Amino acid sequence: MSYQHILVLTGAGISAESGIPVFRAEDGLWEQHRVEDVATPEGFARNPQLVHDFYNNMRRSVKTKEPNPAHLALTKLQAGLEARGGTVTIVTQNIDDLHDKAHSHDIIHMHGALNSILCQHCGQSYEWHEDCDGTTECKFCHHQAMRPDIVWFGEIPYHMDAIERAIERCDLFMAIGTSGVVYPAAGFVSYCSRQGKPCLEFNLAPSANSGVFTQSFLGKAGTTLPAFVAYFLEHGTIPEPAAL
Ligand code: NAD
Repeated sequence: MSYQHILVLTGAGISAESGIPVFRAEDGLWEQHRVEDVATPEGFARNPQLVHDFYNNMRRSVKTKEPNPAHLALTKLQAGLEARGGTVTIVTQNIDDLHDKAHSHDIIHMHGALNSILCQHCGQSYEWHEDCDGTTECKFCHHQAMRPDIVWFGEIPYHMDAIERAIERCDLFMAIGTSGVVYPAAGFVSYCSRQGKPCLEFNLAPSANSGVFTQSFLGKAGTTLPAFVAYFLEHGTIPEPAAL
């Protein structure tokens, strides 16, 4: 096997076939809301209840969702490569828990998680599966200052040091279901490409930065990714998109 360390970046598209709507970059709407209203610190300061309701609804909805063949294919890829001494690191922009439900590991939630809340008073975050609002008390400092533990636009993504290490180490980069417009994640491909690493894109249609990728596998990730993983684990090489 010539590839030993794979870095996978996933976006909302990988969860679309599980019934979780993607963020619509074209009109800036996310589940019928303006991004400025539900995914910025300013939006939360303006109307905290609207923002709590938005993430409470999503948390409840995501509880009923299951991983699809694309999530499961990544779990298989991880197990297959690890059995040969390699690694697969999954960096996800998603706030759902479908990679976890698919029993993948080495998952980095760079934009936070729906199943976590963050205290604005003491800075502690912790696992949370219920609704949250302005009266929810922090279990550490007991202030009523909780917010969704989501990295909003204008905030710094989590775990950037670990992500940088994974980018340095990888010898193959794969981006799945991400539009290539949200930075810094959209810049990972350019960095890997400059270092001469093969960069593969899996998307319904070419993404905003499609030209930087070595190869594009177009179609639903639930179809293309299982076929890719089966070929890759059998042959140890990257198939031509037409071969899938
Ligand atoms: P995006 O919504 O901007 O783009 C989704 C991409 O996935 C598009 O390029 C689309 O063509 C592609 N796509 C849609 N269905 C697909 C499929 N079946 N197979 C392959 N590709 C498919 O997503 P983004 O780039 O991740 O950026 C949006 C931001 O919004 C992220 O930061 C994320 O935190 C957040 N978000 C998360 C979720 C989630 O957790 N599931 C859902 C919506 C938005």
